[in-house]
Amino acid sequence: MQTESESIEREQKGEYRARVQSESETQREIESERETESESESETKREIESDQVRGRIMDRLKTSARLMIVSDLDHTMVDHHDSENLSLLSFSALWESNYRHDSLLVFSTGRSPVLYKKLREEKPMLTPDITIMSVGTEITYGNLMVPDDGWVEILNQKWDRSIVIEESKKFPELTLQAETELRSHKVSFYVEKDKAQAVSKALMECFEKHGLDVKIIYSGGKDLDILPQGAGKGQALAYLLKKFKTEGKLPNNTLVCGDSGNDAELFSIPEVYGVMVSNAQEELLKWHAENAKNNPKIIHATERCAAGIMQAIGHFGLGPNISPRDVTDFLECKLENVNPGHEVVKFFLFYERWRRAEIENFEPYLASLKASCDPSGVHVEPTGFEHSLWDKIDGMRSIYGDKQGKQFRVWIDRVLPTQISSNTWLVKLDKWELSGEERNCCKTTVIVSSKDATVPSDGFTWMHVHQTWSEEVTNLKDHSSSINVF
Ligand SMILES: [Mg+2]
Repeated sequence: MQTESESIEREQKGEYRARVQSESETQREIESERETESESESETKREIESDQVRGRIMDRLKTSARLMIVSDLDHTMVDHHDSENLSLLSFSALWESNYRHDSLLVFSTGRSPVLYKKLREEKPMLTPDITIMSVGTEITYGNLMVPDDGWVEILNQKWDRSIVIEESKKFPELTLQAETELRSHKVSFYVEKDKAQAVSKALMECFEKHGLDVKIIYSGGKDLDILPQGAGKGQALAYLLKKFKTEGKLPNNTLVCGDSGNDAELFSIPEVYGVMVSNAQEELLKWHAENAKNNPKIIHATERCAAGIMQAIGHFGLGPNISPRDVTDFLECKLENVNPGHEVVKFFLFYERWRRAEIENFEPYLASLKASCDPSGVHVEPTGFEHSLWDKIDGMRSIYGDKQGKQFRVWIDRVLPTQISSNTWLVKLDKWELSGEERNCCKTTVIVSSKDATVPSDGFTWMHVHQTWSEEVTNLKDHSSSINVF
């Protein structure tokens, strides 16, 4: 006879399957609609889509975000001098385990969508909730990167891209950047440091004569960007904050993070906390000394890049700032607020260390892991094969240290826990694995339950794990060569 717990478990699994199916159907529908729509229909549809995607992000946050991080990418979130990407991976584990479920991650970059996507393929980066690209001229939402059409309308005011390009041709000091960097509301050049100021002044006069209202930003000692006056990283953030405020969902705290000249605007927004990472460029530090020296809400971190961001979270008391990746003993790892997101992050970190042979005296860990799995729990592999969770844990002995001394990293993205009963959560996530040159991604769903709904600090029991290969996989055409253990 079927016990009550068995029937609950079946229902949960059934519900989970239905959800997975319905979400992938929605995704397929959006994609197929995109292919067939005519141009005239596409604008209206895009507006609706934009609202839907925004809605989905905002629905996740029933109330104001606990923390909104708005970070520049190059030399701020991403350290190009850290080939192992350790601080980026640490930040990612911290974000997914402690913040993803109730906070917002915003990337604000000078990169165009093309170069932004390239960076995401090269580095172990998280998916932000909102992406601000091309120096604040493009705002998109979610993984599908649906554009904000309201922002486009604002930028069209007193802007004419063709006049900007024509007039700029009269200045031989300017070298036009690659086609991918020329966007509808951003025209970019290279110019030498000593000529930048004079050229900018002359350009401004020229555009004024044409009735245009533009903004010229010099950044990184070489990039000169011409944008509509209403654009820029600062205004894009101000626009978002205004939107949130109208909806009554202004984030409780906002932390802006940057390293160079085009980030200065972010630090000018009132009420936000700011961190200039330790490696910030002279132009930003100079701006700060002249404009915001006495603002206690802005710090110059002593740590580089993403480590500087985590330092600022701690400095301003915005929430936990110790990444589970930086905790050496998982068994000792206790959190103030235990949550299912933290549980899955911890497991996949363990899995990485296991294969890298970074766990000494591993028997107690293995025993603890097995004890946290339901005896009837099942793992469904991407191939479709099913194994009991206990068998999978036992099977881990054979792969201990198989990646020792090799490049091997595991990180998880887009952790989304949903409570499906008083003590059970369905956690969806993308599990990424980097092994040498190969990189793959598994869409993973985990069902965990806690013994006591009110005090889940006792830990979670793993009931079910289901993985499928993601279509977003890069550098890996054929999955047959890769072993997916978890
Ligand atoms: Mg930068």
